[in-house]
Amino acid sequence: MTTPLLEVTDLRTTFHTPRGDVAAVDGVSLSLAPGETLGIVGESGSGKSVLGRTLMGLITQGPTTTVTGSVKLAGQDVHAMTAKQRRTLWGPTVAMVFQDPMTSLNPVKKVGTHLTEALRLQLKLDRKAARERATELLRQVGIPEPARRLDQYPHELSGGMRQRVVIAMALACDPQLLIADEPTTALDVTVQKQILDLLAQLSQERQMAIILVSHDLGAVAGRTDRTQVMYAGRVVETSATAEVFGSPLHPYSDALLASIPQLDAAPHSRLRAIEGRPPNMASPPPGCRFAPRCARADDLCRTEMPQLRDPRPGGGAVPHTAACHLPLLDGRIPVGAPVTEEDH
Ligand code: SF4
Repeated sequence: MTTPLLEVTDLRTTFHTPRGDVAAVDGVSLSLAPGETLGIVGESGSGKSVLGRTLMGLITQGPTTTVTGSVKLAGQDVHAMTAKQRRTLWGPTVAMVFQDPMTSLNPVKKVGTHLTEALRLQLKLDRKAARERATELLRQVGIPEPARRLDQYPHELSGGMRQRVVIAMALACDPQLLIADEPTTALDVTVQKQILDLLAQLSQERQMAIILVSHDLGAVAGRTDRTQVMYAGRVVETSATAEVFGSPLHPYSDALLASIPQLDAAPHSRLRAIEGRPPNMASPPPGCRFAPRCARADDLCRTEMPQLRDPRPGGGAVPHTAACHLPLLDGRIPVGAPVTEEDH
């Protein structure tokens, strides 16, 4: 069996706010093999971005934050390391691509400076070698005339080109794991597809593991090996991507899939939405956190937190777990469908 590149056990990231403690990530466990791609999906506020930053070691224990559980990356416990030790992981072991390229790029520094600084610091390259490597990286991420782009400022590039530069920066030290946090949200639709396809292509070419964090199910479909659905800080479903999309077990995943616009839908038909709002994370409901929005909810759902398990009788060929007392075992059932005795 392959040794996991990333192993996360019972991770909890809690922010201490004036309104109370908020467990933005609440008991997440996952494992990722070298070269594997994982999609983490959920609505805004589901904790997926906080999870990504905690895995990277950007959110750590502090006066206003408590982090418990463990994150083992390439065999090293990220949260047991000093800040200086953690910095040695950033670049060669793990790198991150953020949502808005302009927040990752300094507007008064040229593109070349962004790239060569990291290369000279981490790989100890001299000026000439760093510039050559920077040119090659820009070429690999599909930027035309890469040598000329090195002497341009970020504002001289389009949004898509800027995000390609950010991806090139993340690739500079050949990371084993790339965490892409909503990498296409700030881009228009056609550029979104190009960037997502580029990430999938780079993952294959470099045997690089990728965690793709997105609110958009379409972004992870067909581009990731596995998908993990998050709701209110917890993982509610996880399996192979085709399995989650083809046979969702959790009503929340089912509702997310049902809210994707369908090309073959009748003209002017209404888009389906998930009624209600995610819970207040300073005082979440006691049982299933999706219960206030789930028409299948019963008394057990409202009082007892469901745990991740494979509910299929006899299991299946592919591991598939969901945290639900009344999983959708007989195909997709609309969230509003009434609960019957047989469901128990
Ligand atoms: Fe939660 Fe119950 Fe709905 Fe499952 S059926 S998602 S446990 S409320």
